[in-house]
Amino acid sequence: MKRAQIFFPLASAFFLSALIGCRSAARTRTPDDVITLAQGCMGMGEPSIAEALFQERLAKSPSDGKAAVGLAWAALALGDYQTAIWRAHKAESTLSGLDRAAAEILIARAYWRLGRTRQAWSCFYQVWRKGDVAVKSCIDSEIKAVASKLPRETPGVSEVLKFKPPPRKPLARRRAVTKKAEQPEAPLAIIPRSRWGPMAPRRSRLVPMGKPFRITVHHSADVNGSSPVAWGTAARHIQAIQRDHMLHRGWGDIGYHFIIDRAGRIWQGRSLRYQGAHAGNFEANRGNIGIVVEGNFEYHPPNEAQIRALRSLIHYLRRKYGIPKWRVYGHNHFRPTGCPGRYLLRLLPSVR
Ligand SMILES: [Zn+2]
Repeated sequence: MKRAQIFFPLASAFFLSALIGCRSAARTRTPDDVITLAQGCMGMGEPSIAEALFQERLAKSPSDGKAAVGLAWAALALGDYQTAIWRAHKAESTLSGLDRAAAEILIARAYWRLGRTRQAWSCFYQVWRKGDVAVKSCIDSEIKAVASKLPRETPGVSEVLKFKPPPRKPLARRRAVTKKAEQPEAPLAIIPRSRWGPMAPRRSRLVPMGKPFRITVHHSADVNGSSPVAWGTAARHIQAIQRDHMLHRGWGDIGYHFIIDRAGRIWQGRSLRYQGAHAGNFEANRGNIGIVVEGNFEYHPPNEAQIRALRSLIHYLRRKYGIPKWRVYGHNHFRPTGCPGRYLLRLLPSVR
C-alpha cells in the first residue's frame, strides 16, 4: 500500500489516456478530460473552476464517484465545510478501500476546520484504527492535533499520541544524494518540447524574458501520488497543463519553463526566450525560470529520481545564467501559497 494513495482518491482516472492528440483533444473534451482539467485546477489553487468542471461531469454521469469526491474536495478548498461533508458522505457509498479512507479523511478535516473536535476525532480515528503504518504516518500530525484537544481518557487518544511514525525515507537518504551531486555531473538530458505534442503558443501573449536571474520551484499539487509514470502518460499530463494554462487562463503557452515528471525526466515547457507565467504577477515572473515538479509535496516527498533531476537542472541553470544560490526560490516566496509543498520546501536548500 503506498502511503500517497490514501490522499489521492481522484487519482485513478487522472492519467487515463483520454487525451489523444492535443489539438483535437483541445476542441472535444472527453469525460476523463473534464476530470483531468478539474484536478489540474484543484492543484493550481482554482477550486471554483474545478467545481464547475466536476459538476459538468456529474451532470452527464450522476454515478461518477470521482466527480462526486472531486466536488467534496473543491468544497473543502473553498471553505464550505458543511457541503464538503455532505458531498463526501454521499460519494462514500461508491468508494472502497483507500478511496473510501481518503473520503473519511476529507470529512475529518472538514469537521476539524468547523471546530467540531469530537466528530473530527471519530472520523480520523476510524481511519487510523483500520490503517496500516503508512496510513497512520500520513495522518499523524493531523490526528495528534485533534487528539491533544481531547481528554487523555478518551478511547484511542493515548494510543494515537504514543504512535511514532517511522522516519521518512527520502529525508534519510538526502545526505547520500547530496554526496552524489557533488561529483561531476553528466550532461543534462532535457526532453525537447516537440516530444510532448504541444499546441502552438500564442506568441502575441508572450513577453521576451532576457537573461534569467532567478529560479522558482513549484509542485503540480495534483493528486496522483509519487509513483513514476510512463513517457506517454507524462507527456499527456504536460499537454493537460498547457491546455489549462492556454484555454482556461488565457495565457500564451504553458506557464512553466521546465516540468519534472514522476520518473524524474526533465521536459522543456515554455521556451526560455519568453517570460514564464508561474510566480504570481508580471513583476514576480520577470527573469524568473519556472520549474514544476509533479506531485503534491504537501502530502508526500518527491521521489529520488525527481530530487536528482531537480538538483541537476537547478545546477545547470545556475551555471548557465550565473544565478546565485539564494535566488532559487519556492513559489511561496512570491505569494502566500502552499506551493511547492512542505516536503519539497524542506529539501530546497539541499538542491540549490
Ligand atoms: Zn507554484
